Amino acid sequence: DNKVVLVTGGAGYIGSHACKLLAQQGFVPVVYDSLTTGWAQAVKFGPLVQADLLDRAALDAAFAQYRPCAVVHFAALSQVGEATRDPGLYWRNNVCGSLNLIEAMVDAGCRNMVFSSTCATYGDQDGVVLDEDSAQRPLNAYGASKLAVEGMLRDFGTSHGLNSVIFRYFNVAGADPDAEIGEWHLPETHLIPAMIEAVAGARPALVINGNDYPTHDGTCIRDYVHVMDLARAHVLGLDWLLNGRESRVFNLGTGVGFSVAEVIAQCRAGTGRRVPHSYGPRRAGDAAALVSGSRRAVEELGWTQERSSLKLIIEDAWRWYQTGGYSG
Ligand code: UDP
Repeated sequence: DNKVVLVTGGAGYIGSHACKLLAQQGFVPVVYDSLTTGWAQAVKFGPLVQADLLDRAALDAAFAQYRPCAVVHFAALSQVGEATRDPGLYWRNNVCGSLNLIEAMVDAGCRNMVFSSTCATYGDQDGVVLDEDSAQRPLNAYGASKLAVEGMLRDFGTSHGLNSVIFRYFNVAGADPDAEIGEWHLPETHLIPAMIEAVAGARPALVINGNDYPTHDGTCIRDYVHVMDLARAHVLGLDWLLNGRESRVFNLGTGVGFSVAEVIAQCRAGTGRRVPHSYGPRRAGDAAALVSGSRRAVEELGWTQERSSLKLIIEDAWRWYQTGGYSG
């Protein structure tokens, strides 16, 4: 019974949390990560292959050595601001990298992939609650690059029998409640960890990216999911594929959105400290609101959310931040 899984991006934020749960479920997570944004210190649950997805020979060697039954593909660049400044970086890393990986898989006879996609593939939809059939009209190169890989998976499914579970993540935050691993980006651009840095005095203030959006308080609305809940969905997605189920797309959201101003207000409750903040211009590529239910994941995968309240997300992120994070 082959329980070896290749986890690209397993040294990164979401990937490392998934590795922890995969190992707990008896899988052997082999991390494939360039360590460009990931951390060797986050690889604690299986071996590390330090290599890039753009290195096809390294991919072939990893498949030959470990013979994984599936790939869980997290590795990607994931910042909307950076994607808008440098779209080529996103198309090369996220799209060309994924193409290399998928071709290496097919050549190695590995036909199961769990793929990290994003709500950024939808773009703005006038405040409706999204579902998996909502139109996909990405507003930035990050979302466009992920949508391209979704298309790649569909086509390789048709032509080469590649089976995939595509998860479209909403906004992932929080950390392992044991604070063994967590989110650590240099520099940090995501809202909740950036806010924690402001609370800790590691940055002068949290700058709110625009307060003239068509939302109730003018700031952008997002749907925040706890990273442990999200990670657990990957174990279920893997079981789905290993049980021979058909390729499927699942949104992973909570169905409830919070504005940036509301998240800041909750942060004070979660950390006991006020968040110094100021108002800045909009960030190019931002959708006003991205919210999704998770009915399909709940009904078909049996996914449950255990820690996806803003309070627990912020408490866990704050506990992890206070450990000092990663370095080196
Ligand atoms: N945001 C902000 N200030 C920051 C970081 C983020 O106002 O320092 C806003 C951002 O513009 C977006 C929301 O918070 O409206 C969530 O952004 P994040 O980068 O965390 O996730 P994204 O939705 O881009 O994946």
